[in-house]
Amino acid sequence: MAEEIKNVKIIFVVGGPGSGKGTQCKKIVEKYGYTHLSSGDLLRAEVSCGSERGQQLQAIMEKGELLPSDTVLDMIKEAMIAKADVKCFLVDGYPRDVKQCEEFEKRIGKPCLLLYIDTKPETMLQRLLKRGETSGRADDNEATIKKRVDLYYKATEPVITFYESHGIVRKIDSEPPVEEVFSQVAEAIDGLCQGCKCST
Ligand code: ADP
Ligand code: MG
Repeated sequence: MAEEIKNVKIIFVVGGPGSGKGTQCKKIVEKYGYTHLSSGDLLRAEVSCGSERGQQLQAIMEKGELLPSDTVLDMIKEAMIAKADVKCFLVDGYPRDVKQCEEFEKRIGKPCLLLYIDTKPETMLQRLLKRGETSGRADDNEATIKKRVDLYYKATEPVITFYESHGIVRKIDSEPPVEEVFSQVAEAIDGLCQGCKCST
């Protein structure tokens, strides 16, 4: 456990690529003043600063594969400790598989809510192709998207099953328009402390 952040709440935001995690996190930040940490954004920042580590990461991300767990977790932990005086972290894009859940809990702490942003694979593909027109992201192309979606179902969905047994999963239907999705998200957050022992 990381001492510096032991009193900060942690919410995991889990969903496939293009499901709307970033979009919903932005709205949560506006309404609740929580702190958004996107593992993908942290990694892309490392890539764009051109470090040697960044170049290695880029080669893996372009192929749509998962990065070494230790590196990603190091970066998340550094970012959390740098902002240790916040109310609540929204951890978006991590954990990607069950092993990463275990590592995160060991090195950082336990989440008190998991927002499961659920969308159909066709919707993910459509949204990402559209995002790819302007995002400049090397992995927003059809072949890589399909690989990322497959990997999501294989590796990441078991994370949801893992946390269902802890009673902290709230499933959000992310097919409707952004505002409708957000009303489900807000309801889950408002109910947060009814089902867990954390303090607000
Ligand atoms: P993620 O962070 O999960 O990969 P994003 O939040 O970047 O996904 O969303 C992917 C794309 O889908 C973005 O272009 C976003 O504007 C769009 N999008 C997100 N949520 C919705 C929604 N509920 N309805 C329509 N488009 C959406
Ligand atoms: Mg995102």
